[in-house]
Amino acid sequence: MATGEDNGPLEFFKALHGAFVATIRARRAAPTLVRELSAQAFDSFDGNVSIQAEGMPALACHEGCAACCTLRVVASAPEALLVAQYIIATRPAYAKLGVDLARRIADEDAVTRGLDEKRRMALRRRCPFIENGSCLVYNVRPLACRGHASYDKRACFDAATGRGVDAKVSEPHLVVRSLVQNALLSALRDAGLAWRLYELNRAIAIALSDPDAEKAWLSGADPFLEAAIAEVNAQDMAATFDAIKAS
Ligand code: SF4
Repeated sequence: MATGEDNGPLEFFKALHGAFVATIRARRAAPTLVRELSAQAFDSFDGNVSIQAEGMPALACHEGCAACCTLRVVASAPEALLVAQYIIATRPAYAKLGVDLARRIADEDAVTRGLDEKRRMALRRRCPFIENGSCLVYNVRPLACRGHASYDKRACFDAATGRGVDAKVSEPHLVVRSLVQNALLSALRDAGLAWRLYELNRAIAIALSDPDAEKAWLSGADPFLEAAIAEVNAQDMAATFDAIKAS
């Protein structure tokens, strides 16, 4: 990992955790904290994945392809808030095209709310952000989307439509995504901010329906709690974060 020295994944996690903590400490009162933290996470992902994936086969993924976008997407609080901010900021422009992303999220959330990954996958529903095969929130898509990268577009389609087994995905993308996402969660936890992983549709729906959601999150409350991914054991995660930081 690109940490200044190549000391491996754990050192990368610790360095990145420290960088996120520093950003939160310096910028907590800034109205742009959500944007800055997300940009830091996305830049770190992009920079490190390009190093880790060097020499690997070319990916089939590209902007404009949404072949795999039937998966349940998880996101941290700042990532969900960022997408909600983007939906609000782009609402007038998309309205001119007859697209209402907030409506789409509300409708989709009504169908997917509370479903675990297995039941969600069985529905094979497309992400509400897909339009003509493209992601309408591509620039602000969460780490979970960025980290799911395939070598075979046909296999993606087959997996998404139930005609095949899982598509062959890039291991470096999965690993870097996990490290960046967990370093961010660990930093949020240390800052006393809600740090769980949330189901994306529900978390965005909450952020869009509650204008004080970001303020509540910054105060240490968890306005997204009902969207929290139940399969993730927060205590185990916290213990793992602490063990890595102490190593
Ligand atoms: S947010 Fe974009 S990249 Fe992620 S699942 Fe939805 S359409 Fe696909």
